[in-house]
Amino acid sequence: MSVIITICEREYYMSQSSNTKKNIQNGSCPVYKKCGGCQLQNLSYPNQLKFKQNKVEKLLKSFGSVEPIIAMDNPYHYRNKVQAAFRTDKNGKIISGVYQSSTHHIVGIDSCQTEDIVADEIIVEIRKMLKSFKLTTYDEKFQRGFLRHVLVKRGFSTNQVMVVLVTSTQNFSSKNNFVKVLVKKFPNITTVIQNVNPYKTNLLLGNFQKILYGKGYIDDILCGCKFRISPKSFYQINPVQTEVLYNKAMDFADLKGKETVLDTYCGIGTIGIVAAKRGAGQVIGIELNKDAVRDAVQNAKNNNLKNIKFYQGDAGKFMAEAVDEGEIPDVVFMDPPRAGSDERFLNALIKMSPKTVVYISCNPETLARDLHYLKKNSDYRVDKIQPVDMFPHTASIECVVKLWKK
Ligand code: SAH
Repeated sequence: MSVIITICEREYYMSQSSNTKKNIQNGSCPVYKKCGGCQLQNLSYPNQLKFKQNKVEKLLKSFGSVEPIIAMDNPYHYRNKVQAAFRTDKNGKIISGVYQSSTHHIVGIDSCQTEDIVADEIIVEIRKMLKSFKLTTYDEKFQRGFLRHVLVKRGFSTNQVMVVLVTSTQNFSSKNNFVKVLVKKFPNITTVIQNVNPYKTNLLLGNFQKILYGKGYIDDILCGCKFRISPKSFYQINPVQTEVLYNKAMDFADLKGKETVLDTYCGIGTIGIVAAKRGAGQVIGIELNKDAVRDAVQNAKNNNLKNIKFYQGDAGKFMAEAVDEGEIPDVVFMDPPRAGSDERFLNALIKMSPKTVVYISCNPETLARDLHYLKKNSDYRVDKIQPVDMFPHTASIECVVKLWKK
């Protein structure tokens, strides 16, 4: 199939005018050439799905049957996490938006078809408030000015909104009034945090933060389980399709109760927590990132789960040690990052030999590599492959794969 992919990865549109909206529906965003978000925006949504289906089939068909991709009913405004950078142009006009792809130039935008509408409105309002509060925007080149970024996260189920103001210094004397005005305009804002990032860095958040309003975190509900989201914690950015993905993963795991389940590369514990709620006997989660493990432990507590434990460390190392100790789980979920898993992990998995393996992947290329390794070195075979469209308009493809032993 020949498909031209534009360089643009995210579709943004600058105004709410009906013309612009019409253009967006046709898949042409006014800043698509500058922004780096939506690689597939030159295709209609049905054609994007065809493109993704073809790609998965090309890469994975030789391992097993590929189910039709699960589309998003409404593939717009699905991102629950939105971040904007700020700058002031040479005429003194304040601009908020995204970095032009591969540059540090900020492209001004007011809203984007992939982003949460409320989050975009909050960012525009903050931009308008800056002048009246005499707050400046940060200038990367000269390393001066105050506001660097705004990060907004919204719990789609709870409607709680978190606003993080990323500033270059701690000095924010008008903070109480600023928060008061903002919260009055958007009563769904349940917490406001000031994060101080004084460094010359590409990282969004600095180490120091101060809660200006509310609890410092928001909650969301996914598959009936409650999750705490703090400024730095990882959380799936499309909660609607995450439920679809996790439900599919649970179907494939086919838990009957009493099973021992490993949730490897577990992040903040979402998959393991959902499995524990759906009747697993005991669940063990393993994750490299310390902050995510701390969130996972808290999430398990908040869901009143006693049959789940989390360990921090490399998943491959953990698996190899578990094999040495003779542990045999019934089900292993694996959800590695884009780079996929590694041979240490896969060798330990083969030795461990659980009845069911459910592989969740955000990169079909590394998934194909790992499935090839398993096919060559073990009796594991692919039962089903289910692609899920988690990120409409972008080229990203998520798949859930069920493996069984020959
Ligand atoms: N299962 C989670 C997170 C998936 S993202 C969810 O659905 O939300 C992949 C996770 O793997 C990230 O949290 C990342 O920190 C973690 N990770 C990356 N390399 C790892 C490794 N070598 N060992 C364990 N975890 C790792």
